[in-house]
Amino acid sequence: MSSKLQTPIDYLKGVGPNRANLLRSELGIHTYQDLLNLFPNRYIDKTQYYTISQLQPTSADVQIIGKVTHIKTAGEGRSKRLVATFIDQTGAMELVWFKGLKWIRESLKINVPYVAFGKVQRFGSSYSIAHPDLELLEEHKKGLRIAMQPVYPSTEKLSNRGITNRVMNGLMQTLFQEVHKSIEESLSESIRNALKLIPRREAYLNIHFPQQQETLAKAQFRLKFEELFFIQLQLLVKNQLHKQKIKGYAFEAIGDYFTTFYNEHLPFELTGAQKRVVKEIRNDLGKPAQMNRLLQGDVGSGKTIVALMTMLIALDNNFQACLMAPTEILAIQHFQGISELCEKLDLKIALLTGSSKTKERREIHQSLEDGSLHILIGTHALLEDKVKFKNLGLAVIDEQHRFGVAQRSKLWHKNELPPHILIMTATPIPRTLAMSVYGDLDVSVIDELPPGRKAIKTVHRYDNNRLKVFGFIRDEIKKGRQIYVVYPLIQESEALDYKDLMDGYESIAREFPMPDYQISIVHGQMKPADKDYEMNRFVNGETQIMVATTVIEVGVNVPNASVMIIESAERFGLSQLHQLRGRVGRGADQSYCILMTGHKLSEDSKTRLQTMTQTNDGFEIAEVDLKLRGPGDIMGTQQSGVLNLKIADIVKDNEVMKIARNYASALLKEDPQLAQPENLPVRKTYAQVMKFKNIWNYIS
Ligand code: ADP
Ligand code: MG
Repeated sequence: MSSKLQTPIDYLKGVGPNRANLLRSELGIHTYQDLLNLFPNRYIDKTQYYTISQLQPTSADVQIIGKVTHIKTAGEGRSKRLVATFIDQTGAMELVWFKGLKWIRESLKINVPYVAFGKVQRFGSSYSIAHPDLELLEEHKKGLRIAMQPVYPSTEKLSNRGITNRVMNGLMQTLFQEVHKSIEESLSESIRNALKLIPRREAYLNIHFPQQQETLAKAQFRLKFEELFFIQLQLLVKNQLHKQKIKGYAFEAIGDYFTTFYNEHLPFELTGAQKRVVKEIRNDLGKPAQMNRLLQGDVGSGKTIVALMTMLIALDNNFQACLMAPTEILAIQHFQGISELCEKLDLKIALLTGSSKTKERREIHQSLEDGSLHILIGTHALLEDKVKFKNLGLAVIDEQHRFGVAQRSKLWHKNELPPHILIMTATPIPRTLAMSVYGDLDVSVIDELPPGRKAIKTVHRYDNNRLKVFGFIRDEIKKGRQIYVVYPLIQESEALDYKDLMDGYESIAREFPMPDYQISIVHGQMKPADKDYEMNRFVNGETQIMVATTVIEVGVNVPNASVMIIESAERFGLSQLHQLRGRVGRGADQSYCILMTGHKLSEDSKTRLQTMTQTNDGFEIAEVDLKLRGPGDIMGTQQSGVLNLKIADIVKDNEVMKIARNYASALLKEDPQLAQPENLPVRKTYAQVMKFKNIWNYIS
């Protein structure tokens, strides 16, 4: 790429020091290239002219040729305005100004053809445009004919300081005249041919000065593809380096533990997705590089058994394995579940949590170090210094978002070579995002639920229907089911939230009195021991109702609980709602999720509630969530740089992203060093991209 493009923006004709400072601070434009890469948000179609008789109440931005016949001032004080009568052969309308009255009155020419442009509004029977763009027809004809006028991103400060969209369009023209010869091709001919991409220079021309919809679409595709292609290329190269650098234990053997379990002790037939994922993991483990794999699967999709089988492969290769869970209750459940599954295998499995007794601990430490303990399951307690594995070959981490990166690497420092890492999460990271952000983390997805699951029925109910909801609860309890009632707890409003929780608890206790009904309550201000006690009563079926804050969000498994009531549901985020809902629907019975809210709901809240009632698919929900919140919020991906996309949209351009990834991956396979002459443009651009934007100091 030519150095011309690196010229500081100050040097562009029409940009003085003041404007340069504004462009830098407001839009991050430092160089010619930055300006060239400022892409329009949208386009105004100026290919069409309207006559006044064609106007309709629904017309948006229109362009009309006519004459001003009369000007008057109307109104007083704040509503004082200038009103011009504007006519063409078909009728009359008004042009209105609330500001700059004096100047406009003086400069408006009577009975001279103008082109008026703006948003029409209807008052009574007549139409008007407030603050129209007015251009003399004569000038309009002379001017460069831009059919579709680009609208550039702007800020209030920019437009207040006179850098209007029109100025921006002008700067873009000046810029283009200067640099358009310096815009070089960045993709190989074969890629361009395969995808029928227009040349790069043409793409830039058409994105900034489009003549028609069709060429604009081609320009957009070309530039989106290019942007995503280079991001994918970087991620894939990084992935390669990572694979080369971090050595790991190759688990070549598939031995007795795995085979016996698979052939004789599987309690059910694996789903197709589970089989596929196990295969992916087996392949990965067979190589002498550290596995870093994210296992995504919606709640209830059966990640545990996959984790167990992965651990068995480690054992078959004479290594130990551990499983870390975010809470004690979850750790206990995993311990019980896995112990049960492995009953017939000759295995030693232990549980280590904060409440493990000193004596147990000592035994665990001992058997870990002499290698007689095969699998250790627990909480953060696993990270204590005293916990020393003889040879840890695999660490499974359940619900990754509760563990920071630092904690992960702590686990891994106990070895000569790092153990393989399998992270299980039910927080569905949209495929697009996972693919682009976790370029160095391999992702396996269980996208199929075990057969026979009944979809959870989700409904939205207003607070004034509470009595009916109580009636429903009573019926379900009569059938032997258990109920969750969850309240939001948000740090900023903690005191109020606790009051809501306690009020709610009291009214439920009134409605469902002892001794017929037993209620558990669990919240963050309780002592851990009390919390566990209450939780266990519910798990063991001694209580029918569990009133709680979101502490139950992660992982608890009570198959008999079939109703989830979420209070003030509008205050929860989508992924949280989905996680909560996932606590039910784990048994054979029809399950329900009831979202309770008041009547006052924001648009976003309505979308969230609607999404929940319409789908059970975690990935679909995650995509909506991503659209509502923007990617920055999700998984702390803000710094990823992937999300500072200039033209592509990580959600909407999902398909383009996939194409880009496939092409990038094929290219690297064919020409890993980008050394072939044909790939020179890619190589040059890649080097450039690397120099100016370092997108990969995240995650690892
Ligand atoms: P999650 O992915 O949420 O961790 P679990 O591993 O806890 O899901 O599995 C949820 C439930 O589904 C468990 O009771 C488990 O025994 C059961 N399960 C898992 N896989 C299958 C399968 N292939 N067929 C039938 N039931 C399954
Ligand atoms: Mg689980």
